[in-house]
Amino acid sequence: MTDRIIRISDRHRTKPLPGGGFNAPPAGAGKDALGRSLRDLRISVTDRCNFRCIYCMPRDVFGPDYPFLPRKELLSFEEIARLARIFRALGVEKIRLTGGEPLLRKNLERLIELLADISDIDLTLTTNGSLLAKKARLLKSAGLKRVTVSLDSLDERTFRMMNDADYPVAEVLAGIDAAAAAGLAPVKINMVVKRGVNEDSIVPMARHFRGSGHIVRFIEYMDVGASNGWRMDEVVPSAEVVRTIAATMPLEPIGPNYPGEVAERWRHKDGSGEIGVISSVTQAFCRSCTRARLSTEGMLYTCLFATAGYDLRALLRGGSPDGEIAGAIARIWQARADRYSEIRTAETAGARKIEMSYIGG
Ligand code: SAM
Repeated sequence: MTDRIIRISDRHRTKPLPGGGFNAPPAGAGKDALGRSLRDLRISVTDRCNFRCIYCMPRDVFGPDYPFLPRKELLSFEEIARLARIFRALGVEKIRLTGGEPLLRKNLERLIELLADISDIDLTLTTNGSLLAKKARLLKSAGLKRVTVSLDSLDERTFRMMNDADYPVAEVLAGIDAAAAAGLAPVKINMVVKRGVNEDSIVPMARHFRGSGHIVRFIEYMDVGASNGWRMDEVVPSAEVVRTIAATMPLEPIGPNYPGEVAERWRHKDGSGEIGVISSVTQAFCRSCTRARLSTEGMLYTCLFATAGYDLRALLRGGSPDGEIAGAIARIWQARADRYSEIRTAETAGARKIEMSYIGG
């Protein structure tokens, strides 16, 4: 237990920012060491959450004494928007707000307005849905395009056990309805599948959302962070998920919407919609990974499984001009050689990684 807490305090480990001083702003981020471009940015707007999902923020680690970031450590909306503009100029096309639970960040719609003002940016958000029924219309009118809602089961007992906050299914479903009614569609629904916990929920979930226009994506349980006690035998491979659903609802594969899409798409043969599977453990997609991640306090991570990040906030608050920050990001990107999921072993799974609630899922 103590060991787990000490390891979480590693979240502040930083790598030195690349040197090079002030240059003319680069035309783009260029390619990383494995030939990948920078296209997506995930921004964590808070490290706090009102759920304690057993695979993400287990209550015995994220308890009442857990040292969440104090307010002054958080990037302000203006700082986030400034970085987002710099990332856009470097080639980022899509921004996803996440956390923690992003809807817990006060006045989030103000940040959305600032980000929606950036030209040609696809702006989305991932949420546990608990506040969505209240906020969907506000988010839409601020300029949000779509949402992804996490929901691990339709079974009341299983869902409450997994969110460990006694949160009912009905309120998340109401959030999904409100999002669709507000035009934040198509709504994607993320279900993390953990062996022995919610496998029974796979088929009911696929059946419930068939014909709704929403897209359920079944996610392999990952060894993110160091607190969830991950074991390979708790992963339900996506191939098994597809087989299980197809046994009663015939499916056929369909191509990706765009190169590098993380979900593998399947369509119901009767035309009643599609599902997706995200196989980050059994079929790693590092080769096409175009994502960077910005933590709540402005650390840049080039992989979900990173052990340290680059302190962009130091540049922002140290008075660096945009061109210098862009130059630093481009050099960080060009040095990027991460491919954690491809080289995962039982040993690396236990390494000191950054928690997902902090780095942003
Ligand atoms: N609070 C928001 C939510 O619930 O969607 C956003 C943050 S959450 C960290 C983002 C996504 O990461 C959720 O869909 C969650 O289920 C997923 N996630 C968290 N831990 C995971 C793990 N160990 N393996 C796979 N997915 C995980």
